Amino acid sequence: MIGSPPSPALRDDDLSGYRSLFENAVEGIYRTTPDGRYLDANPALARIYGYDDPAEMIAGLTDIARDLYVNPADRDRFKESLDRDSVVRNFEARVHGKDRNVIWISENARAVRNAEGRVLCYEGTVQDISERKRAEDSLRLAAAVFETVGEAIVVTDSDHVVLAVNTAFERITGWAAVEVVGRPYDLFAVEMIGFAEIEETWRRAATGGPWSGESWARRKNADPFPTALAVTAIAGEDSGADRYVLLLRDITSHRRNEQRIRFHASHDSLTRLANRRTVMEALADAIIRAERNGERLAVLYMDVNRFKDINDSFGHAVGDELLRQVARRLKACVRSSDIIGRLGGDEFAVVLPTVADHGTAKVCIDKVLYAFAEPFVIDELELFSSTSIGVALYPDDADNAESLLSRADAAMYHAKRNGHPFSCFDIDMNRQVAERVNLENDLRHALADGQFQLAYQPKVDVVLGGIIGAEALIRWTHPERGPVSPALFIPVAERAGLIGAIDDWVLEQACAQMARWRAAGLCLPSISVNLSPAQFHDGRLKDKVKAALARSGLSPFMLELEITETMMASDVDRAIEILGQLTAMGVKVSLDDFGTGYSSLAYLKLFPVTTLKIDRTFVDDLPDDTKDGAIIASVIALAANLNFAVIAEGVETQGQADFLAECGCTAMQGYLFSRPVDAEAFGRLLESGVPALAGARQACLV
Ligand code: C2E
Ligand code: MG
Ligand code: MG
Repeated sequence: MIGSPPSPALRDDDLSGYRSLFENAVEGIYRTTPDGRYLDANPALARIYGYDDPAEMIAGLTDIARDLYVNPADRDRFKESLDRDSVVRNFEARVHGKDRNVIWISENARAVRNAEGRVLCYEGTVQDISERKRAEDSLRLAAAVFETVGEAIVVTDSDHVVLAVNTAFERITGWAAVEVVGRPYDLFAVEMIGFAEIEETWRRAATGGPWSGESWARRKNADPFPTALAVTAIAGEDSGADRYVLLLRDITSHRRNEQRIRFHASHDSLTRLANRRTVMEALADAIIRAERNGERLAVLYMDVNRFKDINDSFGHAVGDELLRQVARRLKACVRSSDIIGRLGGDEFAVVLPTVADHGTAKVCIDKVLYAFAEPFVIDELELFSSTSIGVALYPDDADNAESLLSRADAAMYHAKRNGHPFSCFDIDMNRQVAERVNLENDLRHALADGQFQLAYQPKVDVVLGGIIGAEALIRWTHPERGPVSPALFIPVAERAGLIGAIDDWVLEQACAQMARWRAAGLCLPSISVNLSPAQFHDGRLKDKVKAALARSGLSPFMLELEITETMMASDVDRAIEILGQLTAMGVKVSLDDFGTGYSSLAYLKLFPVTTLKIDRTFVDDLPDDTKDGAIIASVIALAANLNFAVIAEGVETQGQADFLAECGCTAMQGYLFSRPVDAEAFGRLLESGVPALAGARQACLV
């Protein structure tokens, strides 16, 4: 700061001493005119403002008020108080440097007046306080952050005595600042995180670098909660730890999310059972344990019979609920040490970690089968369902999780195909599984590659002596295997979801062929097409039928659809509606394989079905089997009473035909009259008649 102006008593060398002080001072020193022009300035001031030397600055800054102050009002305020009080101390303002950069300065100044009190000039000193201002700013920021962050912050001194906590700390832990500030952190932290953790915390913090980890803490009310803790030691002047800052985050919701994610990744969301991956991992672990203990384990692979039909007929909501109920019942069948999971779709697996043999597994199997005995009640529905179970044993059938499961699957498939409730793996089944997989792959190309053809089998009336219809039966000529039976590939196509496209193709082809015969002048009253459950329940069936009829130009009464009882059993109301739509159009519907399902005749009366097609199994042992004979006779009589037409399928011998005719069933289909033949051969049958019929008619006429 500048003292009084040099008095006349000062000598020259004194003056040059002051000059040197002025030139070399660290603070900026200046003198200005009352109207704001520099009279003099030292190099330090020029440096602060970014000029090379005072001369440049003085030349450049001709109006300090206008050119220097970021806010010109600052200069006015400065001048006002200087004129009023003659001195100004620690006046802080922002000014522009030479490059228009902003500099914070602190100024001390005084007004120099003459004897009359008029201001001659101003003189003052200037300090660059930009650094301090920045520090203050960041302190303010830090203080704001300290109070507003979501994390609890505790600041302690080197003796771990709490200096400050923020509001988040109060909120999260329940401790008020006044309860903890000034007390050793450990006193309450012992209740919060336990002594061992505190020791560890300080040890880590003291051994350099910030440390962070997760642990459990307690709130003041003793509720435990998971935390993420970070501790930073802040070095003091003498480089030892001066302060500690502890950052505590409540990670309860984070943990909950993690748990949820982990659960979802390992469980099936519909049934909340373990998913396939988890079952495989648990099975692999169980195999390791069984191996170590020299034990045996069993895998049960099961699915819900006709689940697809149920899903197709009642919709996915019902299908989902059925799976949930199945899962609940399965859970009740197993012990907590057993592993149970859903593998996907309607497939479930149970791992029994210790079994003596098949017999022990059978106890569980019986329980599972029994669990399906009661109907499943879904909304208003009562659904009877059943399961097929395949069993494979470690180490007997396979020694790793993957093949053990696939062998249990093979056993299940075998059970299903043979109509058994369960079946144990044997090596022969492997071949069958491989075959099924191959078949499925090959089926995917068969339609596009034109490997399907239709065969036609006549339906005859032995009294009228002529062909009354034709059943279209699909034939698949596999490029390597040759002909594959539909009895073999239709179930595979159903399982693989390929049946819809195949059925559509059959419907189109059969109608087109019928139209060709009729165009050729051949008389064929109707053509029958078999429907699969998926097609029956497909909402577009009516439109598809309409379109096929329109394209081929056939009348609806020339088309007959063959459905099975099981298609209707799953959803009676829906089936009645679908059948009603078809029969209302004039299309005929016959009930295929009649007698193998479970409907009663009276019940059938509800369905708009025109014809019952008596299953081949009843015809097989005629006329010798008196029981089958009696059944057939009564079915035919009842059907007539209820106004159903009747046709018998699988008629192979004259004896069978005679017996049926005697009972009043004159419509028949079977090898006796013709095997299914290709369209061309069928055309010839239409022209020249069925040879076997000549005899049949004679027999009837006599
Ligand atoms: P289905 O509808 O009951 O067809 C009758 C089956 O009995 C046919 O077998 C036929 O060749 C056979 N058959 C006819 N007469 C006799 C006989 O006197 N004795 C014996 N032992 N068998 C006779 P196929 O053609 O092998 O068809 C088997 C099943 O495959 C059919 O049973 C039907 O359910 C299904 N199927 C056939 N073609 C199609 C189709 O185009 N679409 C659908 N969805 N299913 C079809
Ligand atoms: Mg049929
Ligand atoms: Mg049949």
